[in-house]
Amino acid sequence: MTVLEPNAAPTTGDGMIPAPRESTVPQEEPAMAAAGGIVADPSAAPAAEATGGSDAVDARGGAIGTVVEDWLADQSTEAGIPVTPIPIPQRPVLPVRIRQASGRYRSPAAGFQLELRIDVDGRRPLKKISGDYFSVSGATTSYFGSWTVDAVTTTVTNGALVAVGTARCTWPTTFTVARVTIPRRTIFQSPAPATIQWSTPSGAIGATYTCAPEGAALRVVELEQDVEAGVTAFTSYDTGSLPSGGPARTLTAAAAYGEAGIQVLDTGGGNTIATSSNHVWNNASLHGAMTAHFSRWQERAQFKVWLLHAQRHELGTGLRGIMFDQQGLQRQGCASFYQVIQAGTPQNLREQLYVAVHELGHCFNLFHSFHKAFMTPPLPNRPGALSWMNYPQNYNPGGGAPSGAAAFWGAFPFQFDDLELAHLRHGFRDNVIMGGTPFGTGAAVEMPVQPSDPTTDTSGLRLRVRTSPERPVLGTPIVLELALTVDRGQQVHPAELLHPKYGLVQVTISRPRGDTIVHRPPVLHCAEPELLQAAPGQVLPVSAYIGYDAAAGQLFEDPGTYRIRAAYTAPDGSVVVSDTATVRVWGTRSAEDDAVAGLLLGEEVGMAMTLLGSDAPALGSGMAALEEITEEHADHPNAVYARLALGINAARPYTAVEPDGSVAVRERDLDRADALLTPAIDASRGEGGLDDLTVLQVMGYLARSHAAEGDGVGARDLRRDATRLAEEKELPGAALGLLAEDPAD
Ligand SMILES: [Zn+2]
Repeated sequence: MTVLEPNAAPTTGDGMIPAPRESTVPQEEPAMAAAGGIVADPSAAPAAEATGGSDAVDARGGAIGTVVEDWLADQSTEAGIPVTPIPIPQRPVLPVRIRQASGRYRSPAAGFQLELRIDVDGRRPLKKISGDYFSVSGATTSYFGSWTVDAVTTTVTNGALVAVGTARCTWPTTFTVARVTIPRRTIFQSPAPATIQWSTPSGAIGATYTCAPEGAALRVVELEQDVEAGVTAFTSYDTGSLPSGGPARTLTAAAAYGEAGIQVLDTGGGNTIATSSNHVWNNASLHGAMTAHFSRWQERAQFKVWLLHAQRHELGTGLRGIMFDQQGLQRQGCASFYQVIQAGTPQNLREQLYVAVHELGHCFNLFHSFHKAFMTPPLPNRPGALSWMNYPQNYNPGGGAPSGAAAFWGAFPFQFDDLELAHLRHGFRDNVIMGGTPFGTGAAVEMPVQPSDPTTDTSGLRLRVRTSPERPVLGTPIVLELALTVDRGQQVHPAELLHPKYGLVQVTISRPRGDTIVHRPPVLHCAEPELLQAAPGQVLPVSAYIGYDAAAGQLFEDPGTYRIRAAYTAPDGSVVVSDTATVRVWGTRSAEDDAVAGLLLGEEVGMAMTLLGSDAPALGSGMAALEEITEEHADHPNAVYARLALGINAARPYTAVEPDGSVAVRERDLDRADALLTPAIDASRGEGGLDDLTVLQVMGYLARSHAAEGDGVGARDLRRDATRLAEEKELPGAALGLLAEDPAD
């Protein structure tokens, strides 16, 4: 039986091997135009560019040459290495410029089809090549696998560029040596096809594919953008408006990706989502809006992404953007919030551009620069990265160099860093495509490990963790209580930003089944926090539900012992590792325990608990399971969690966006919220029930809801009650921040 794999030489006899893979595509293909932004239109200004390099010929000097050995270097618009042309006076005078070889190529759709990406010249060449195979069968085409050559050697031989290197592949093959040949063409000729021949390291010849040029961009992504009523969506920013670290140019979000070699096609959208004024989004309604309103949304992997330009998120003005799609197939949608960056000042336009490119970067599966260690597999953090994926305020090049937002903006050239470029251009398809692997997961199946203690830690910060409740039975939602103690006064993030959903704290869980999970909160928030000047001895507490993971689903599905650690990345880049919390999940002891556990461990219940309820149809069965607990098992200790999620959901309005862009608002139901949350609060005054911070949070939320409905007296009583409770429980002063009044009320 012949193993069918694309790099091996075609054989005959089993009827499964495709026809010859020669290109049948005529070579009069559209020119590799500048749409992808890899290089400026080569025909736009040949005379000016001709002064720069060896492959160009100075017509005025009467010189002509075909000396192009190092034409590659010249193709980089950033290299700018001047090379003197070699004059050959007898030859005719012609300006000649060589086409760049970099770009996207495709073999015919027969058997295996190869999408080939060449990245050896043009803008910021990475000297890599990569490709995706699709298997074509009848009228169907399926993704087969990807490969990447991380470092190619290029030569020019017999008028052709030859690139050779060894590939990493997603499937087992011995044919790993790639040799790509692309005839050189001038800009006056049509672009040449690329031929790739595979062989084994010992020289056995494998398959050959001839791929027609398809475009200058290495990937193409469709972007659909919609706008909430009252928001003026970002269009472009002139990077020369304020000091920066790069050349002045006008950037749209698409142009920023174009510079990275990724063509972003704006597919319209532009619909206005007609919310009422002062409308506030939450994560549940954002996800619902995406599934209803993103016309290209499907629950499958595709290079299509949705960006909502919105006004305000319930988490407040610090939240500038969010990649909210971390349920089901992930990374398909994001939003930016304009509440505090709407006015068209240069600073705000710059922020609007940054947020759009940054959130879309998450959709491409890029992590924050200072969180690369938390990817699977991990990379070292790069807090000094001048990248779209860094937080300006987290920028820290080290060595005593200026850090923070002002230093970042002064040096930022409005680009991704090289490792991010490599991912965008050459990452294995599933790791890049929207709806592919879960956020933060690469191709390698590597086992994460618990963070180890730093060898030295002079950060002056301590992180402590413990879980709540103390004796959970199977199905009990597990809450992690974190407390950051500041021993040496310094700037830290405010307590609420220590919630893992902001990404500054990463939680790692070792489970009794033997694996270790780096917890990925199902929704990642990108906040631009105001830092807090903390005094020595100050304690910053936060509690977070960690029972549900964006990739692994329910995390505490087995009875047994779990070990949990957290790591906080401080503003100066220090990684503060917590102690280890050990929690034993007990088996069920009664039929009712069994029934409640079965309901609470449902997949949609985990997401509903994360969102604290939702009206989204996709979570309907999860909400129904919580209802069933409050009705059929009202006296079970874990009913308090069902009341929590149902009650918070009732305490806030829910906006459903219909496919036509119209909006239906389900109003706040305060009576129902009171009926659910009051018993949950009362059950938590002593030892049992919700953890202390969550109770306080619930009381604060309910107080704000009463205030919003005009019940100032009820709101005040709730806050007084909560303050007393906080004193009884001896909570740190910072916890009272949870009772803050909504500035909008
Ligand atoms: Zn972010």
